[in-house]
Amino acid sequence: MDLSRTLAGLGSALLTAALIVSPGPATAAPADTPSTRDFGNGPERNEVAALESAGVLARTLAAGDAHERWRPGQRGYPRRTELPVYPENPDDRSIKLGLIPYHAIAPKLNALQKASNRVSAEVIGKSAGGRDLYLVTVTAPESAREAARQDQWKTLIEDKPWAAKYDKSLKSGYKTPVWINANIHGNEWEGTDGALRVIERLATATDAATTGFLERSRVYVTVTNNPDGRIAGTRANGAGFDINRDHATSSQPESRAVRDVVIGTQPFVMLDEHGYTGTTLIEPATPPHGQNYEYDLYIKHALPNALGMEAAIQKLGYPETTRADIPFRDYAPGDWDDWPPIFTPMYAMYQGAIGHTVEIPLAVNNANYTTLPVEELRRRSAINTDVAAATIEAALTYADTNRSSLLAGQIEQFRRGWAGEPSPVIPDGFVEGFGPEDRYSTTFPRAYVIPAGTPAATRLVNHLIDNDVRVERAQRDFTLNHRRYAAGTYLVDMRQPKRGLANVLLEAGRDISDLVPQMYDISGWSHGLLWGATVDISRTAFPRVATAPVREAALEGRVEARKGRDLQLTLRDGNDVRAVNELLTQGIKLRRTGAATVVVPAEARPEATALAQSLGVRFTAAPPGAKGEVLGRPVIAGAISADELFALKEMGFTVRTVSTALLNGGASLDDADTLIVSSGLSYAALNATGKATVDAFLARGGGVVTRGATGANFNAAAGVLPAVATAGRGDANGVVDVVNAGPVVGAGSLPHSFVYSPIWFTGTGFTVEQRYGADPLVAGHWLPTAAGTNGPAQAAGQAAVVSGTTAGAGRAVLFGTEPLFRAHPKGLYAQYARALFWTAG
Ligand SMILES: [Zn+2]
Repeated sequence: MDLSRTLAGLGSALLTAALIVSPGPATAAPADTPSTRDFGNGPERNEVAALESAGVLARTLAAGDAHERWRPGQRGYPRRTELPVYPENPDDRSIKLGLIPYHAIAPKLNALQKASNRVSAEVIGKSAGGRDLYLVTVTAPESAREAARQDQWKTLIEDKPWAAKYDKSLKSGYKTPVWINANIHGNEWEGTDGALRVIERLATATDAATTGFLERSRVYVTVTNNPDGRIAGTRANGAGFDINRDHATSSQPESRAVRDVVIGTQPFVMLDEHGYTGTTLIEPATPPHGQNYEYDLYIKHALPNALGMEAAIQKLGYPETTRADIPFRDYAPGDWDDWPPIFTPMYAMYQGAIGHTVEIPLAVNNANYTTLPVEELRRRSAINTDVAAATIEAALTYADTNRSSLLAGQIEQFRRGWAGEPSPVIPDGFVEGFGPEDRYSTTFPRAYVIPAGTPAATRLVNHLIDNDVRVERAQRDFTLNHRRYAAGTYLVDMRQPKRGLANVLLEAGRDISDLVPQMYDISGWSHGLLWGATVDISRTAFPRVATAPVREAALEGRVEARKGRDLQLTLRDGNDVRAVNELLTQGIKLRRTGAATVVVPAEARPEATALAQSLGVRFTAAPPGAKGEVLGRPVIAGAISADELFALKEMGFTVRTVSTALLNGGASLDDADTLIVSSGLSYAALNATGKATVDAFLARGGGVVTRGATGANFNAAAGVLPAVATAGRGDANGVVDVVNAGPVVGAGSLPHSFVYSPIWFTGTGFTVEQRYGADPLVAGHWLPTAAGTNGPAQAAGQAAVVSGTTAGAGRAVLFGTEPLFRAHPKGLYAQYARALFWTAG
């Protein structure tokens, strides 16, 4: 899918998304904001319906990643891996800009490896579209023994920072690791070209400075983090995801690959090369700063490194590069924050790096790509390439010059974690411009406790481990804070090197609405509250119980019924749903005895047993004589966003994608049981053909599931349910308290949900499934309008999700929440699936 046109009209997308809001949307950044971030999988995704992307593999939701994690290994350097070469693609969008097309990268890296003993290239994973992801390591040759020594030092820094601190041979011999990530947004091309230029210079330069530098350093470059997008000229990857919003969730192979790189290389400094903000932009960011950082250790280096990069682009001498925007120095709070861990550099900070987003200046993407003359595009791309290369060179120089202090800082970050020390209070003026508005901190709990036995617990624990968070398992039953826990319960001891990462994933988060006037992307997330596992917090006590470290959490599904009994499965988790879909695919006749309970015939016990093992789900004995309605495999047509399509595939649903354009062009809904409307379907924009198709579908009692403003507008225009929608600010988002009430979505759902551009429903003639809590916003940013309306206070107690019967006697569910948002809130998936099964029935 191509988001570029929508993204170009950033403001208009929001205005459209906010159609149902009567008061001013107050969503886009103010006009005086020098640079704005582009949206990625935010409200704008309501405008563009996803297309079925057959080439994109659905990921298993079963137990977390279960993938081969890339590790640097202990072979020496150079490694001289011959990269596979792919056919030339004349349609690669890089070509028009005079930049390197994807197919030319492997030959170039193969040639560099042949020409220089300083360059090693390898494939570290595949993109969503199945393309190779490359990691280049540039360093002076190392024997296997020397490489192993480097790895031991890296481990010592993380595992025994108190010892690393005083290790003289480590201090003199440890090679400074620097990581450059390029082209994470596919249509922000030149980071790749700038990085290749730097690699080539380092590979071939014969001066003593370069030779010495490579003896002291390892430079790691992920040459393009998004080959699908590079080729297609899109921001998103082949699955329609913005990878630079996916860290911490890691639903995409591209973000998992670089997660493994940052864990495996433990860089002191990292750059994430983006574009295009008119003026070159170099982080550090504005407040709010993530409250789990050791921010003193970060800003001490981030600011001077940014100033060095600014000086480097000034030296280029272009009128377009006379200065940089450094948000920490130049912008107002909230204009360019580093709050959520969804961005690569922010994620990398929790792994021990001084992380910077760098935005190269001159736009060549979206509308520019098609409207500007080729010469102008190439002029811009050449300058952008110079800027990318200059920032990389400057960062390498900074890292080399300040290697002792950077090493000491990383050691100190991990040491504080192990020691369980509070993060220090940073005084005003700590670096120039540091003031009270920059001061964010948290009190780390002593432990998180995660009872085992559910697929959600297994998934969460494996996710933590994949992120290099240490998890232990209790060997015996124990009591903590007056609660009894069984042997096998998982424990996250917060005295660990990456406690900031553990906490930023597991904590509830914080309501920051009053702290800054606006935020750009999500301000709330919580694996603890939204991933479906029970996560208890122990503020001060750690249990007295023997524990063992967990390398991988196992699924613990089972069939708990005597042979010959019908089985029952309760739809609480996405894996329960996946099990139902797999049973239906195998042709097993299922019945639904309630919105959340499915009966499996006794004869299907072998199939159920296999799924209990592969998905960790639990079958119990069905009540004797349970009948219920036949549950068929639902035929679903969906005008939905790419992330929702992905999440539904994770649960084993098949969705035929539709849109306004497809329905206007004659796409049929004849065989559909349920129509999902959340993106790219406007009833008002349907022509006679499209309208007739939708009207006939509704008249024959087809089911409807809607989400968001697009869904609510469809509901009103097509007369699905008599519910009147009201929306909060378009940029309002976060984790909310909900009260479950209804029989379908409300049955067994978590007491929390997620919202982005929240909606609530008023009126009569429908059932309230879920309400917003009395003080709904737990974590995130949600302000009322200037007039004091449409805020959390107005949403309190209102219906967040409703169900009902349509005029055509079909069933409908309207979501004002975001249960599938960016494939993040795994614990909310099943409520959406229940709505699908119910409306399809
Ligand atoms: Zn970008």
